[in-house]
Amino acid sequence: MPAHDVLIIGAGLAGQRAALAAAQAGSSVAILSKVHPVRSHSVAAAGGINAAINVADDWRSHAYDTVKGSDFLGDQDAIEIMCSEAPKEVMHLEHIGVTFHRNDSGELDLRAFGGASMKRTAYVADITGQAILHVLYEQLMKHHEQVERYEEWFVTSLLQDDSGRCCGVVARDVRSGRMETLKAKNVILACGGAGQVYSPTTNALIVTGDGIAQAYRIGAPLMDMEMVQYHPTTLVENGLLITEGARGEGAVLLNSEGERFMEKYAPNKMELASRDVVSRAEQTEILEGRGVGANKDGIYLDITKVPRKRTLEALREIVNIGKDFAGVDITREPIMIRPGQHYIMGGVKTDVNGATSVEGLYAAGEVACVSVHGGNRLGANSLLDTLIFGRRAGEHAAARAASMALPDSSDAQLREDAAMIDAIIARPRTGRRGSEIKQELGETMNQYVAVYRDQEGLEKAHEIVKRLQAESKDAYIDDKGTVFNQDVLGAIELGYMLDCAEATVVGAIERKESRGAQFRTDFPERNDEEWLKHIDISLNGDGPEISYSAVTMTQWEPEERKY
Ligand SMILES: Cc1cc2nc3c(=O)[nH]c(=O)nc-3n(C[C@H](O)[C@H](O)[C@H](O)COP(=O)(O)OP(=O)(O)OC[C@H]3O[C@@H](n4cnc5c(N)ncnc54)[C@H](O)[C@@H]3O)c2cc1C
Repeated sequence: MPAHDVLIIGAGLAGQRAALAAAQAGSSVAILSKVHPVRSHSVAAAGGINAAINVADDWRSHAYDTVKGSDFLGDQDAIEIMCSEAPKEVMHLEHIGVTFHRNDSGELDLRAFGGASMKRTAYVADITGQAILHVLYEQLMKHHEQVERYEEWFVTSLLQDDSGRCCGVVARDVRSGRMETLKAKNVILACGGAGQVYSPTTNALIVTGDGIAQAYRIGAPLMDMEMVQYHPTTLVENGLLITEGARGEGAVLLNSEGERFMEKYAPNKMELASRDVVSRAEQTEILEGRGVGANKDGIYLDITKVPRKRTLEALREIVNIGKDFAGVDITREPIMIRPGQHYIMGGVKTDVNGATSVEGLYAAGEVACVSVHGGNRLGANSLLDTLIFGRRAGEHAAARAASMALPDSSDAQLREDAAMIDAIIARPRTGRRGSEIKQELGETMNQYVAVYRDQEGLEKAHEIVKRLQAESKDAYIDDKGTVFNQDVLGAIELGYMLDCAEATVVGAIERKESRGAQFRTDFPERNDEEWLKHIDISLNGDGPEISYSAVTMTQWEPEERKY
């Protein structure tokens, strides 16, 4: 049975950063991913990464913007750590080979992003995630003697010893179908978010909430799950993202009357208000009949305001996306967009070192909720979150590993998981097809748990999620094989997505106020007196149980949020 000091599930930015940190601290490390590491969803990150690098900037200003962006739900101790450590982390990336854009004076160039009081987003054109991910992977190769890579392996369960400590995982080699128990002193979840719970979404097919559900199932609480970010600029046709970098470079939003309507909603920051504010403004324009397009369900994003040469240089990916997926040359005409699901602020509750309440289990990146984003994440703060808290989790797990023996584990869970997979493959073609259930889930969430929410819609969503949970138990699949059987993995992922959806809906029903991404039309005001607190969700028996935890305040008192 393979055994490691630190076993990392997920090889996106959080996972690879954690692996490097743990290896550099002297641990024996393994990193496991259900896709090849550089196909992890971090590769899609476009616009950039925030850090107060400019000499006129200060990390405290970045921290204040983040606290305000979070609608005061973010934990300020974690935000202070993230923002104060940001400049060093970005410089470190540059030193190991990330080719950040430089200006004519040779300094790191910074672009404007939403909710920021000054330009502080470092970028590599609009392929920032890809650039960082490839450089980190190259670094991992350098540590190949210490870091074992399980590429295209799918984790089916987290293991616990008799005293409840996390002591490894059960995983399936996607290429062959072979199951294996991997023992570890510490496991770090870096499995990304759960965007596929929604349809459409900007997130890739692999972003199915696996780590969130797996942690929840072994008793780790989830936090802030009701906070789901809708990004203001996703393609009407299919939900693909047009980076906020476009508005950072000067693109504007227009309604059917040709008005720059953000003047009404955020007169100071206009298109660069925080994402929840801009998405709500667009949705209001659409609901009030000022949308564009045949169905009046879009808004124009006019990128022709940006000099063509600059667009072709700094926004080249979205030039291609516009052409390939909407048939629009964004350098010459406006493109139709609307708010679309993009990111989840919630996740597995951790402390500032990534530790969860289950001993030996850590989480970092989008799977985790530390919580630096609170009710709303600022653009370009997620890459930073993955790297800062990925590193901290790696270092902490390595230090813990140095002072302990390998816990015991058996093959009992492996036998259970293998039987579960055989049972899925053997299901008769009687119930529904798994993919249909997934589609209904996504559309339900996008209808009732979106930019605007109310009690009636949320209860309806909950009812549907419960029904889909029951139907998923005998949903059938077509592929009966062992080699690259994505069908069977899809059935397992569907269970994870349904767990995440339920936690999101239950949290949204519970929070009877409007804060950040949660806007309740039946409770339209923020209510600090009753709701300035996190909603924690734990699995009790078969269903979610709610408790609360305090928001950590250090230096910023809640105030009215205006942009
Ligand atoms: C289109 C797009 C553009 C974005 N642009 C930006 C940006 O410019 N700036 C910014 O700050 N943020 C951006 N974001 C957000 C940011 O990219 C993500 O939040 C971040 O990259 C998540 O990284 P991660 O390491 O947590 O997870 P991911 O990169 O999603 O990695 C998850 C890993 O977990 C593995 N995994 C999952 N489940 C299993 C399992 N069961 N078994 C084994 N392995 C598993 C996957 O294979 C993968 O390796 C963007 C997001 C999108 C969708």
